[in-house]
Amino acid sequence: MAAQNLETQESLSMEKIVSLAKRRGFVFQSSEIYGGQAGAWDYGPMGVELKNRIARFWWKEMTQLHDDIVGLDAAILMHPRVWEASGHVENFTDPLVDCKKCKTRFRADQIDQDKLARKECPDCGGELTDTRKFNLMFKTNIGPVDDGTGLIYLRPETAQGIYVNYKNIVQSNRMKIPFGIAQVGKAFRNEIVTKNFIFRTCEFEQMEMQYFVKPGEDDKFFDYWREQRWAYYEKLGVRMDRLRWHRHGKDELAHYAKDAYDIEYEFPMGFKELEGVHNRTDYDLTRHQEFSGKDMQYIDQDNGNARYIPYIIETSAGLTRQLLAVLCDAYEDQKVADKGNDDDWRTVLHFHPLLAPVTVAVLPLMKKDGLAELARDIRAELKEDYSTDYDQSGAIGRRYRRQDEIGTPYCVTIDYQSKEDGTVTVRDRDSMLQDRVPRASLQEYLRGKIKSYKRV
Ligand code: ATP
Repeated sequence: MAAQNLETQESLSMEKIVSLAKRRGFVFQSSEIYGGQAGAWDYGPMGVELKNRIARFWWKEMTQLHDDIVGLDAAILMHPRVWEASGHVENFTDPLVDCKKCKTRFRADQIDQDKLARKECPDCGGELTDTRKFNLMFKTNIGPVDDGTGLIYLRPETAQGIYVNYKNIVQSNRMKIPFGIAQVGKAFRNEIVTKNFIFRTCEFEQMEMQYFVKPGEDDKFFDYWREQRWAYYEKLGVRMDRLRWHRHGKDELAHYAKDAYDIEYEFPMGFKELEGVHNRTDYDLTRHQEFSGKDMQYIDQDNGNARYIPYIIETSAGLTRQLLAVLCDAYEDQKVADKGNDDDWRTVLHFHPLLAPVTVAVLPLMKKDGLAELARDIRAELKEDYSTDYDQSGAIGRRYRRQDEIGTPYCVTIDYQSKEDGTVTVRDRDSMLQDRVPRASLQEYLRGKIKSYKRV
């Protein structure tokens, strides 16, 4: 049966994603046994594999495939002056209002603006407080005394770690403009509204790349990076009709930004920001030069030692948010039979094979007659190159369904014929079609399938 002929259930709710994520070990609520911690989530065995693979996919795209980009892993804790220079101490705020009656807290920019003007609570109709600014940075204390002198912040973005290291990297790695620095790491924001699962959390991961260019060449590279980042999602196997661009209007643009676009993904709750591509001008390095007193100019040795502060084009993506997009995008409830019972439907995650937590599951048709031994032997052969799973319990159909639910693209089944002629069957997750393949060419077969994978 070909996958495109199968009936699919169109409506996807966040509840379905949350439920599958928990049931199959992708994402758990943080500190669940204590009632959960708002804004924090734990990644289970499948979730951590998926997250690592997305990060690796992005890392390869940005560093290995771009000769002029190098990596960095900066500390989460940074000198507090960094956040004064960056403008976060002063400006990294959300506008907040509280309802005096039901005590619910809202972001003033996210509620009905007419109700806000009337100071009317959108939930209970009670009276709202005046709007006030709320800084999103988490503060903590470093050192033995807690008298405010050891104030330190948990970084709210990874970008500043790149800016303060830009000179180190130019010098140590002899980088010439234009060049980029890529980083994946944790960021923390005291978000007020943390609904929608892992979409907006207080602790999350970012994948950011800052590209340093000569002033005047910024528009050209801004366009280049917009194209590159769009093409990345195509490679990732995301349905492109669920993506769109959103250009920041004058009122949305950060005060330092010359131009900014978001790539938005159509989540179950609608189109929302997935990643931003920003032209940050020379704002960041100029500010760090001012606050640190260190010269942040680039010396252009190929052009008569001309000096200038580079402009920065930033591509800023949320890793955990991208994981949510990949999960939603991959999810499908599909009708695969017509017997009138629950078994007619399967839940399947159509992950790109490079992202799937398990690439190959090895399943002996029976435990007995030496099939299990043969299957274990084949798994041992595969696991050097692929992440594998082994499952010998239950009916084969049920075992396929379990693999479909975690998005395993290939199931290798060992049956009686395997013993006779040394062939195995490989079931394709998306089409559910099976090919019989000689054991000796299994690796080559899988390599070919992965390389030529296209989402149907
Ligand atoms: P918003 O306006 O929605 O609060 P932002 O525009 O400030 O977000 P950026 O600072 O541009 O977001 O962050 C870059 C990327 O980091 C976002 O596109 C998103 O993918 C991710 N991100 C930002 N905040 C969060 C969060 N609280 N939880 C998860 N991911 C986040």
